Amino acid sequence: MNRRNFFLKAGVVGALAATEGLQSCVTGPKLYGDKSFYINRGFTAIPKLKLSSDRIIKETVGLRPFRISGPRMEKEMLGSKTIVHNYGHGGSGWSLSWGTGNQARELVKTTPYKEVALLGCGTVGIATATLLQESGFKVTIYTKDVPPNVTSNLATGTWSPSSRVCDRESATPEFEARWQDATRFSFRRMQMMLGMNDIVAWGDEYQVRKNAPSGTRRAGGSEVFHLKGLAPEWRELGKKDHPFNADYVRRRSNMIFNIPSYLNFHLNNFMIRGGKVEIKEIKTPEDIDALEQKVVVNCMGLGAGQVFNDKEVFPISGQLACLVPQTEVNYKLATDGAYFITRKDGIYLGGTGKENSWDTNPDRAETEKWVSILSDLMKEMKG
Ligand SMILES: Cc1cc2nc3c(=O)[nH]c(=O)nc-3n(C[C@H](O)[C@H](O)[C@H](O)COP(=O)(O)OP(=O)(O)OC[C@H]3O[C@@H](n4cnc5c(N)ncnc54)[C@H](O)[C@@H]3O)c2cc1C
Repeated sequence: MNRRNFFLKAGVVGALAATEGLQSCVTGPKLYGDKSFYINRGFTAIPKLKLSSDRIIKETVGLRPFRISGPRMEKEMLGSKTIVHNYGHGGSGWSLSWGTGNQARELVKTTPYKEVALLGCGTVGIATATLLQESGFKVTIYTKDVPPNVTSNLATGTWSPSSRVCDRESATPEFEARWQDATRFSFRRMQMMLGMNDIVAWGDEYQVRKNAPSGTRRAGGSEVFHLKGLAPEWRELGKKDHPFNADYVRRRSNMIFNIPSYLNFHLNNFMIRGGKVEIKEIKTPEDIDALEQKVVVNCMGLGAGQVFNDKEVFPISGQLACLVPQTEVNYKLATDGAYFITRKDGIYLGGTGKENSWDTNPDRAETEKWVSILSDLMKEMKG
């Protein structure tokens, strides 16, 4: 192609891009001024986050219900009741909710009863109640609080099925097999929610480090297990494929849960199908014995540890700070000391993981630190 033909051809492509509004496209070369052809700048551009303290609209601290040997999934008799336990999901309750909900449903099916009392109305309780309804059970949820006043509302909301799911040293091979089964079930179920008002969506996720990590240990911090072949794997990017001032950048696609609309959607569906929700605090096992149903599914998260005096359960607190939503920013990013995730209801900066901390007061200094780390990263970013 001679030089004249090249520019003519580039002009056609550029004009098409302009009419389709592609100037603001987040990837690919940039279209300059009124010149109707692209100049390749040698990197893939992504939109920048607007960061300043006055854009913070809320700060929260949630308590992850961590259980040393992993979420409790078993059946036990308590007086005249059959209890099915489904609690203690740590930092992976959103991701595993359908999978462990399915395992709880299988245990309920081994009883002769068709009416179920379900304790708790977080993401685990709502998923489990939905699955039970789908199998023909009549379900009543008894709960101290409903969304948005539950821990599940204070989560980041990303696919992370093995994040703080157990203590690796204490986990048995049986638990890992159960985790794999739950992870596969949840993953399949999440794909069925795509396109439903964006309650679940896929997006890009970046990991950015100034210096390449040494040795072979490159997996993300709090992930306990990894199941290959389910979600897309991380891919390292070369300098020309990203705009960051960093030696080590990798990217993958990951799922995001738009928490407020997700919980609202599933709770509404539960009610439409005839499910009932009763506000009730369970203080002792005797309160459970007094319920009318013979089979009771326990999805009380951290609260279950207290009612059943389970010494394996303790909180791992996590603070988040929410920035004003920015619709053009649609990726997740983690760097040393801070991360952010973009949801419909805002851009969430995090994150902490303090073991055995029951303190739910946000620490402003922590938020300022994330704003500063991410501001520096954005300032140094090309584009
Ligand atoms: C900062 C942070 C980030 C996170 N990010 C992610 C993530 O990206 N992906 C992911 O998969 N997970 C994540 N998690 C973990 C996830 O949020 C939890 O594992 C999940 O919310 C647990 O759900 P749950 O339904 O068991 O508990 P909860 O949401 O706490 O629900 C428990 C329910 O039981 C009720 N209850 C409690 N005690 C009693 C009682 N005594 N009587 C009656 N009812 C009671 C409560 O009112 C509530 O309705 C994160 C958590 C935090 C804190």
